[in-house]
Amino acid sequence: MTRGPSLEKSIAPLRSYVFAPMRHGSLLLCGDAAYIVPPTGAKGLNLAASDVHYAAKALTGYFRRNDADSVAAYSDTALARVWKSERFSWSLTRLMHRFPEDGPFERAMQVAELDYIASSGAAQTAIAEHYVVLPV
Ligand SMILES: Cc1cc2nc3c(=O)[nH]c(=O)nc-3n(C[C@H](O)[C@H](O)[C@H](O)COP(=O)(O)OP(=O)(O)OC[C@H]3O[C@@H](n4cnc5c(N)ncnc54)[C@H](O)[C@@H]3O)c2cc1C
Repeated sequence: MTRGPSLEKSIAPLRSYVFAPMRHGSLLLCGDAAYIVPPTGAKGLNLAASDVHYAAKALTGYFRRNDADSVAAYSDTALARVWKSERFSWSLTRLMHRFPEDGPFERAMQVAELDYIASSGAAQTAIAEHYVVLPV
């Protein structure tokens, strides 16, 4: 194989952030406009889709039934799911990556948790539940 020069390299920052509430007056925020999830949990697109699902229900309630409560409830409803996914992605990031500020204690915590996950059906079920079956 003939190797070429590496022309561009970058390291994506693994940020976690939630903007709350996800509503400003009649503006409902969805997806990346409202939060940043690190890529570790592959949650960004899934969360954006569930936000749109909740927003569609809220707007349908408002325009079809004049139900202002459905719009008022949007942010809390969406955030309940967002925070769970944010916590999951954040904790997986802490588990899977080594950060410059971490020392031997943090590394030992990672190894202990990985060891626990590898040996516990309950821990594996919890991870699988967060990955694929958080209810909408
Ligand atoms: C490399 C990469 C890999 C990813 N992998 C996954 C994954 O495996 N699973 C997962 O769930 N998520 C993944 N994500 C995250 C996911 O792509 C995002 O969280 C998701 O697309 C957010 O959807 P959104 O609609 O909020 O924003 P976007 O998809 O960013 O949509 C915003 C849209 O608005 C448009 N726009 C911006 N400004 C304006 C303007 N002024 N006027 C009009 N239009 C405008 C943009 O062009 C864009 O089309 C990944 C992201 C990246 C970058």
